[in-house]
Amino acid sequence: MSERAVLIEGGCVYPADSGDTVIPRGSVLVVGERITAVGSVEEVRGAVATLDAAVRDALELVDAGAMMVLPGLVNGHWHDMFAMGFPLRGALRPAADRADEVGFFGGGGDMHTISRTFDSFDGLIAGLTPDEAYAIAQYSMWTQLRGGVTTIGDVGSLNRPHDMVRAALDLGIRFSATTWAGDAVCPPGGDRYERTRDTETVLSAVEDLLRQCDSDTTGRIRCRPSIAYVTNMTDELGFGFADLVKGHDVGFATHVGAVRNEPEVLRTYYGTTGVRRLHDLGLLTDKLMAAHCAFVDEEEQRLLLEAGVHISHSPGKYGPAGESTITETGVVPALRRAGLDVSLSTDGASLPNAGMAETMRAAWLTYNEMAASQIEVLPTDALAMATRIAAKGLQWSAEIGSLEPGKQADLVLVRTDDWRYLLNPRPLESFLWLGGSADVDTVMVAGRTLIAGGEPVGISFAELRDRYLDALGSFTTRCLRVPGDVVDGILNGVAR
Ligand SMILES: [Zn+2]
Repeated sequence: MSERAVLIEGGCVYPADSGDTVIPRGSVLVVGERITAVGSVEEVRGAVATLDAAVRDALELVDAGAMMVLPGLVNGHWHDMFAMGFPLRGALRPAADRADEVGFFGGGGDMHTISRTFDSFDGLIAGLTPDEAYAIAQYSMWTQLRGGVTTIGDVGSLNRPHDMVRAALDLGIRFSATTWAGDAVCPPGGDRYERTRDTETVLSAVEDLLRQCDSDTTGRIRCRPSIAYVTNMTDELGFGFADLVKGHDVGFATHVGAVRNEPEVLRTYYGTTGVRRLHDLGLLTDKLMAAHCAFVDEEEQRLLLEAGVHISHSPGKYGPAGESTITETGVVPALRRAGLDVSLSTDGASLPNAGMAETMRAAWLTYNEMAASQIEVLPTDALAMATRIAAKGLQWSAEIGSLEPGKQADLVLVRTDDWRYLLNPRPLESFLWLGGSADVDTVMVAGRTLIAGGEPVGISFAELRDRYLDALGSFTTRCLRVPGDVVDGILNGVAR
């Protein structure tokens, strides 16, 4: 049997290539896992004519006349936190919001609570059974896929990494795996960090995951080591990661410069600030994806620029979490203007939060408003930040991030034939204004269609959801000690 071949014809194609090309009536030809042609309808028909007769006879045609065609979205900074779907701003909240208080990321950040909360994840992860971990991860990843994300870059999840890899493989999504890594906390009232776990154990868990991902034969699984936060690592852990990243020639990610109160706490507990720490530990390189990176001083900004660090930020998430990461310092837009790669990501929450589409909108609105200019971030810039640039930040740009011949066939189709798009020759602009994750119609990863007409292909949504709810219920009752009748009451109320 010859390889599957698909011709996606007649759509408005946004390849997100380095020239930010737009092809108003274009096509994409996919053979097997890869894109073999992108161009005008006529150009790509020319490419079809050169296919082997057997491949041409079996060619599937997707009429994209009423569609926009985008590269698969690349979410380089994500966490699976769905195991906390009950307690962490989740199902246990009252329906009314008037009694809500500022959370630990708000008000500049309650650093001690953040540090202690992050440190508690290891025990919770250990409590998950492999089956629970798999079911929760798969549902969480499915919500990403449904919104057009074809590649997820984990920066540490409250879940079991090996089972997450299994979930990603079975779902068909592309996944960059990591461990939840940290070995210290900053307890309140002190002036020195406290070690909470053995550094070698943390490092060997990463080595183990690197080995598992190295043995992947699908090309869809990689490992990018990460440390949860610069507040939660000893120098030994930092040096250990620097060796590991160098030895395996892989990328590295961490959260740094995330909230206003971080630099002062780091100075008190570690004697220096986040970016300086990363620099001193040998982690400030062009392999680093720094998540957030807004609360950094002028010297740190210079260090970031000199090292060519990649910044991933999540403007769709900040307001709802109480963070002031874009506007308070303006550093991320300024570093982008100075030439640093800045990509967009969703970060993580315990229930679905802003997807990549909503994040692109947030960047488009916020950057332009701050600059008093509608060309600071063009719609095609926002798209590049969510695709090509994000893929570069994941060290994966040779294979993904744009629609170009030779690259993996990861792509997204969005319908553009309703009132929102009428008369607008720029459908991406209408999508950023009035569209969103739920409007994604078709998602393809490595030439395989995983979502069609907004529905999963070859897998039942009801099955995914029910397996997730069962796993969440048992974990929440057993490990988070939420009374069984409370959990059952909520789960029984879910419309299925
Ligand atoms: Zn994060």
